[in-house]
Amino acid sequence: MDDDEYDDLLSSVTPHESGGGITTYRNTVSIACPACDSPFDDLVVCRDEYNSLELSVTLDLCATTHDGDILLFTHKP
Ligand SMILES: [Zn+2]
Repeated sequence: MDDDEYDDLLSSVTPHESGGGITTYRNTVSIACPACDSPFDDLVVCRDEYNSLELSVTLDLCATTHDGDILLFTHKP
């Protein structure tokens, strides 16, 4: 994902939680996932070199990268 696309994305989602190198954003305006074109639920940005996710529910994930960060798009199955 390039800088313009990343800036557009982050200007559209709502910050929700941050900690441990992981920031979660809510997709409150139902923008389309860049990977699968379906609206995603949350955007998870992993900024550390190593990150761990603890998922309490089963989710479908789409992924991309931006400037060394991992971006995960969650979809409820
Ligand atoms: Zn997707």
